[in-house]
Amino acid sequence: MKSFTLNLQTRIIFGRGCLSRLGGEAASLGDRCLLVTGRSFARESGYLKTLVEILSESGLKVTVFDKVEPNPSIGTVYKGAEEGSKNNCNLVVALGGGSAMDAAKGVAFLLKSNSKLEENLFPNEVNDALPLIAIPTTCGTGSEVTKYAVLTLVKNHAKRKVVLLGNPLLPKVSILDANLLNHLPKELVAYTGFDALSHALEAYTSKDSTPFSDLLGLEAVRIILENIIEAFRGSPEARENMLYASMLAGMAINFAGTEIVHAMGYYLTNYHNVHHGLANGMLLPHVLRMEIQKGFGKLEDAALRLGLVNGMELVKKIEELVDRVGIPRSLKDLGLEEDELDAMVADALSYERNVNKHPLPLTAEDLKMLFTTAFSGRRFQA
Ligand code: ZN
Repeated sequence: MKSFTLNLQTRIIFGRGCLSRLGGEAASLGDRCLLVTGRSFARESGYLKTLVEILSESGLKVTVFDKVEPNPSIGTVYKGAEEGSKNNCNLVVALGGGSAMDAAKGVAFLLKSNSKLEENLFPNEVNDALPLIAIPTTCGTGSEVTKYAVLTLVKNHAKRKVVLLGNPLLPKVSILDANLLNHLPKELVAYTGFDALSHALEAYTSKDSTPFSDLLGLEAVRIILENIIEAFRGSPEARENMLYASMLAGMAINFAGTEIVHAMGYYLTNYHNVHHGLANGMLLPHVLRMEIQKGFGKLEDAALRLGLVNGMELVKKIEELVDRVGIPRSLKDLGLEEDELDAMVADALSYERNVNKHPLPLTAEDLKMLFTTAFSGRRFQA
């Protein structure tokens, strides 16, 4: 059996209504808190007000930074850190999806370090950060249990996804309260759900997978396949199950990372504003199909363990779910042009940290084939 090191340092509090425990948890970690969130959801849903009240009642001084955009830039992280530093904050609380949580991790690092973000990006590892409490409001990224912050670096009009990584970025506490998902639009349930499914399956196929990450990944896949449609339709129970599954999938990538679905999807997000989870949902079936066609036995095994006949049935099942939530059938439908295909391949290959985790030999031609098929669309009809 492959050897591995297991470090689960996040206290996970899961359950409907558990947001009320935020005050006590926060007070044990600091007394001046920077609350990091996005630009609209937290305020419009009323949760921003609720959180400020809970934290204030527990004796914390609260500073709000509510300027995190989707796919947050490094510049936003610096702005958040400036706000935190001005107010002498010693604790960061993140409320939101992956964007808010990842930006908050960057802020927590900057508030504890004298160096620049740019100098500490992967392959470097950060060695310190302020304590962070993460409260997810989507059922996808799993960032509440990972040591990663994925940020966007803009340089000479080129956009790149960069990663800040290190155990100090693991939230000290994660509060998973499914009541917060009641407000989530159904498209975001689907998109973030397919992000979680990608995490689960990519962690499972990753070269860095371990028996423990396989356990987490496969269970997440099982739950997502069973719940994503009902969650999309609005079932609170199914949404709670998805929140649990996305946490498991986040733990799986914390150990095993993601592979080429993520590497390929970054181009769509960076240059066509495609939601990260939507990009993954569109590409995942193509990558799995190729892995199965190349005879990757581990996926066949996964299918059997999920009660399916074979690996191709798993691909078809995922394609059926993608279609049922109305995800577009081709990259062409998203407005991409055929003359971008080579740029897409080059961009995907540049994400070595992901490409290197692909479990099989991989060529530029393989990626071109995957993008070309995704561009023209699937033949499969639901
Ligand atoms: Zn992702």
